[in-house]
Amino acid sequence: MRKLPLSVVTLLLACGAPAPRPPTPRNAPASASASASASASASASASASASALASASAPAADPEPAPTSAPTSAPARRPGAYANLDPADDYIVGPPDPYTDCETELVAAGVKFKPAALAVHVAGRGKSKIMCGAPQVVTYLRGPGKIAYSAPPLLTCAMALALASFERILQKEATETLGSPVARIEQLGTYNCREMAAYPGWVSEHSYANAIDIGSFVLANGKTVEVLRDFDVGDAPPAKPAASFLRAVSRRANDEDVFSHVLTPFFDAHHKNHFHLDLARFRADGTRPQPVSID
Ligand SMILES: [Zn+2]
Repeated sequence: MRKLPLSVVTLLLACGAPAPRPPTPRNAPASASASASASASASASASASASALASASAPAADPEPAPTSAPTSAPARRPGAYANLDPADDYIVGPPDPYTDCETELVAAGVKFKPAALAVHVAGRGKSKIMCGAPQVVTYLRGPGKIAYSAPPLLTCAMALALASFERILQKEATETLGSPVARIEQLGTYNCREMAAYPGWVSEHSYANAIDIGSFVLANGKTVEVLRDFDVGDAPPAKPAASFLRAVSRRANDEDVFSHVLTPFFDAHHKNHFHLDLARFRADGTRPQPVSID
């Protein structure tokens, strides 16, 4: 029987969990649009829980007027971090909400792009009734790392912003570890209306162009780093620079909350030849050996 990585086990186990709390504002998304049929759940999502605001009772004689309301604001998000850290919306299935000031943020992030469209629809073929498409997508032409792509990725706005963040990580790690920046990324696809390859019934973020698969990195010096050939799934620190590079960039992308999911060959055999990066509403760390599996 297929083995389920811990992160997915966690998701499956949580299916019977009580209904999630109402969503809270964060990451400045525009008004909600997507459908919200309850389904999936979360793994460890660190959320900035609001600390209790002590409304200490002031002495009656205190001339200081009491504040009429406590200030409210979205949880702080690190620059360059686009992972969904809000556990309240983990159960929502559907394309991501449009991103407020998308074009302004893309320009500020150093992204050259073209507006694009991807109709939202229900697949409706066979037994599958999954929703596909997204209300806000762009064609990513060039990012701050000046990296070319084998095909211009069609992505949700937030994914385009996250990819720009990833380029900065790539160039720093490639220069330091490999002595040459990345010149080109061989990407294996972004939009694909389908369920998860390993888990039928679970909607892939590819269905919303909210994911990208990356197979290899071509350096400016002409050398290529391939996930299939160079990724080292051993427990020990990798011996070869190419493996060190792949491990470093994938773990930074996860640990710095650039993406919600960073899946590598550590995760399962479906990812032996590529990194899967997405902005799902729940988290999964696929950058480390999966310590627990069930048969
Ligand atoms: Zn993928």
